[in-house]
Amino acid sequence: MYEDTIAAIATPLGEGGIGIVRVSGPEAVEIAKPIFRAKNKNWTAAGSHRLFYGHIVDRAGVVVDEALLSYMQAPHTYTREDVVEINCHGGIVPLRRVLELVLGCGARLAEPGEFSKRAFLNGRLDLAQAESVIDIIRARTDAGLKLAVSQLRGELSRHIFSLQHKLLGLLAQLEAVVDFPEEGLEESAAAEIMVMSKDLLSEIEKLIKGAETGKIYREGISTVIIGRPNVGKSSLLNAMLREDRAIVTEIPGTTRDMIEEIINIRGIPLKIIDTAGLRETEDEVEKIGVARTRDSIGRADLILLVLDAARGLTGGDRSILESIGEKKSIILLNKVDVAEIKIEQGEVESLAPGSPVLWISAKQETGLSELEDTIVDMVLGGRAPSSDTVLVASLRHKQALEKAASHLAEAINGIHGKLPLDMVSIDLRSAWESLGEITGSSSTEELLDRIFADFCIGK
Ligand code: GDP
Repeated sequence: MYEDTIAAIATPLGEGGIGIVRVSGPEAVEIAKPIFRAKNKNWTAAGSHRLFYGHIVDRAGVVVDEALLSYMQAPHTYTREDVVEINCHGGIVPLRRVLELVLGCGARLAEPGEFSKRAFLNGRLDLAQAESVIDIIRARTDAGLKLAVSQLRGELSRHIFSLQHKLLGLLAQLEAVVDFPEEGLEESAAAEIMVMSKDLLSEIEKLIKGAETGKIYREGISTVIIGRPNVGKSSLLNAMLREDRAIVTEIPGTTRDMIEEIINIRGIPLKIIDTAGLRETEDEVEKIGVARTRDSIGRADLILLVLDAARGLTGGDRSILESIGEKKSIILLNKVDVAEIKIEQGEVESLAPGSPVLWISAKQETGLSELEDTIVDMVLGGRAPSSDTVLVASLRHKQALEKAASHLAEAINGIHGKLPLDMVSIDLRSAWESLGEITGSSSTEELLDRIFADFCIGK
């Protein structure tokens, strides 16, 4: 347990109905007492997990804001420490004033992620669970949220613990043989350990494979819509953004053209990049030219290339078709509704072999559900997870699994090459430790600092 008490504004800075200053640590109540003028004078004795009405006052007794204060006694709190949360009005000035008063009474300003770090270090959450908090906050679709919540509830951790448990079983068996070397026993034990190690390895490999899918749900797919001016790119974007399934967020601190638009395609977040480029006028686009298109192709995981079926292919179209190369791309022949079609599907297919070609009308919104099917197929490649699969979504977890897999493979090689079993046990132990990095049962201070630095202040 920590000796100091930390505090931070836990809600986003801006205008809101309420804003919360969170205080955690052994002095949480003592810090709140002088600045909270409660209607119930005996609030500290009234018991844990209650909400109290009152006013926040400064040292001179001047009322700063009206507030509700929640008091949660250790250990049944997020951090397992005493926690006080002051719900005041959600403006920048009241929140900052309240925070200043709390700091003036002896709290220290929390570092990013420090509340969650304490929750981990005090044993309330394991590391994978603590990390899921940030994924819940940043979830972009329901499917992404579901994945993060299942991680918070410990499903991934339980799976990892069970793998670690099996490894420990193997190690115990190995050590028994090493400690009591009897004729013949070593060989049969080695054969058994070999089989079990291979089983474990294949379980870990399955998790690694699933990580690709997990990452897609967690982070989304960077998508770019390209094509000549007037082919219908904006119309397509608008058609896809409709249906109440888009999140449009402004990325703070950037100019207006850094708007991130996310379209939810059956749980897969498509992050549409370069939307500013989409809305440029024809003149501007001509000026910037094909170079910019190439640049956005480079940054995207998925390309939607729109061609105008009413106008036929131009030289520029052909060069773009040829430049998409190995990238995942879908070619859309737009304006299928017009009277005269001037584009040949066969020619398009021969220029970009392997990319699906679909006929759509962005204006009449036809062909969009086939487009969705194709996106899902292309992105997940038949790996759509069933609801009970445990998915790994973070790169850090995937890397730890890869390390574990390589140690296991070493162990298997060792047995195969008839290395002494105590050497094999070193590899198995390393595999166990690599798995432990996921849940934090084996973690270093440096690793923790790196993970929690990614959190915002107040989490
Ligand atoms: P962008 O420059 O590629 O973004 O193209 P826009 O989306 O601005 O569309 C250019 C023009 O084509 C507009 O007049 C649209 O109404 C029209 N358009 C877009 N999609 C279709 C379609 O599916 N059918 C028809 N007939 N016109 C379309």
